[in-house]
Amino acid sequence: MTEELFATDAYLRSFEAEIAEVDRDGGRVALARTAFYPGGGGQPHDLGSLDWGGGPVAVTKVKREAGTIWHWVDTPELPGGGTGLAGEIDWSRRHLLMRTHTALHVLCGVVWSEFAIPVTGGNMEPGAGRLDFPLESISAELGKRLETRINEELAAARSVVVEFLGRDAADATRR
Ligand SMILES: [Zn+2]
Repeated sequence: MTEELFATDAYLRSFEAEIAEVDRDGGRVALARTAFYPGGGGQPHDLGSLDWGGGPVAVTKVKREAGTIWHWVDTPELPGGGTGLAGEIDWSRRHLLMRTHTALHVLCGVVWSEFAIPVTGGNMEPGAGRLDFPLESISAELGKRLETRINEELAAARSVVVEFLGRDAADATRR
């Protein structure tokens, strides 16, 4: 199990860790702990670099597999297990993804409060995103109304709060 530093500190840009597992054929390493977001909830995985003493090596892909977070690294010379390293997140990209993700949640909240219609799909890239709502129709007026409502909610400068729910509690609040 990788300790998921990003889950408790979304603003962590750099960290130190040891290599927990090396997959030489896959060109990837797992760390004891990481600030690299592996993707999820529509948000893409982070990019950045790992440095185990020879200078920064690009992280090209990050993915969670059964509790282990793998980092694909752009080098043929992988270090051994137990090696200490420094990780650095591509912060301008990640921060823009965080802002995009939060903005999409505001859109979800506004559509829910106006129409009681849940989001059914979506995706995002830095600075742009798409959400699907099963609305009966859409119009320029509706777009304008949603934009106005979203801007009202943003102007209210509400806190963004992180909470952890158990599986049962998460399912219980679903509709
Ligand atoms: Zn989300």
